[in-house]
Amino acid sequence: MQGKIVKGISGFYYVHVVGTGIYECKAKGVFRNQKIKPLVGDNVEIAVIDEENKKGNVEAILPRKNELIRPAVSNIDMALVIFAAEKPDPNFNLLDRFLCMMEYQKVPVTICFNKCDLVTEEKKQELEAIYKPAGYDVIFTSAKAGIHLEDLKERLKGKTTTVAGPSGVGKSSLINQIQDGIYMETGAISEKIERGKHTTRHSEIIPLGDDAYIMDTPGFSSMDVPGFEKEDLWTCYPEFLAHEPYCKFQGCSHINEPNCGVKDALAEGNISQIRYENYVLLYNELKQIKKY
Ligand code: GDP
Ligand code: ZN
Repeated sequence: MQGKIVKGISGFYYVHVVGTGIYECKAKGVFRNQKIKPLVGDNVEIAVIDEENKKGNVEAILPRKNELIRPAVSNIDMALVIFAAEKPDPNFNLLDRFLCMMEYQKVPVTICFNKCDLVTEEKKQELEAIYKPAGYDVIFTSAKAGIHLEDLKERLKGKTTTVAGPSGVGKSSLINQIQDGIYMETGAISEKIERGKHTTRHSEIIPLGDDAYIMDTPGFSSMDVPGFEKEDLWTCYPEFLAHEPYCKFQGCSHINEPNCGVKDALAEGNISQIRYENYVLLYNELKQIKKY
């Protein structure tokens, strides 16, 4: 039988099998045969040991599409980052951190601004103008007024999506609106993120019906990912790419060098000021992170 590991806790793997439910499994077979540690997100072959009590053994891990470092999961198709368009105002620095981490790990991102019932058309255009030119998919939803929920559902369909966003932006309200059946307590996702800061982080995937999975992205504010250097940062800003060939200096950091294509584009209004400012902040932060 095939399923997906949705949770792993001290040697037990919880495997969701569509239409049947969740099996508590050990992974003896897979350690023996493939010598790799299962990850949350893995699609696996299981042998059922006890159908009544839903117990089994993971026999094989199917080939991974990708493997993320942060969060430590596999087979992620998409990242969804949720902020409120207002109340609270979006934290652009936090948003850019997330975008960079996902860019670095080559995961496509949808940016969702929720609480769009609270803002004007003008405000929406302002937000769009920051991220659309960088190539991101941007949607505006309202969990409260039921706006664009179908669009959101459509994006999640058939995928495993890692969901991030600070608390209070309406993540749980949105998820409750788009999932049939399972009800999540308001605040549940953010509580988990909070708890994650103090205890061992467990990634957990939640099945949304039969054709989509979502999971929390714990601790997404940290840029401290092995191998991620300040020199890599500009490559995580897709809208910089077209301008970098005009930089005079090789290895230009786009901060202090003269004749910089990126800074020229900024001066001409072709790169968003907000995005650039966050680039500089994150660059300096990466410079500070102690490298071992
Ligand atoms: P979470 O912490 O991100 O999971 O946010 P919640 O779902 O708990 O929502 C936080 C607060 O925002 C609650 O008081 C919700 O009623 C409110 N809220 C959620 N979505 C919307 C929305 O689309 N519009 C407005 N105006 N309020 C919302
Ligand atoms: Zn430059």
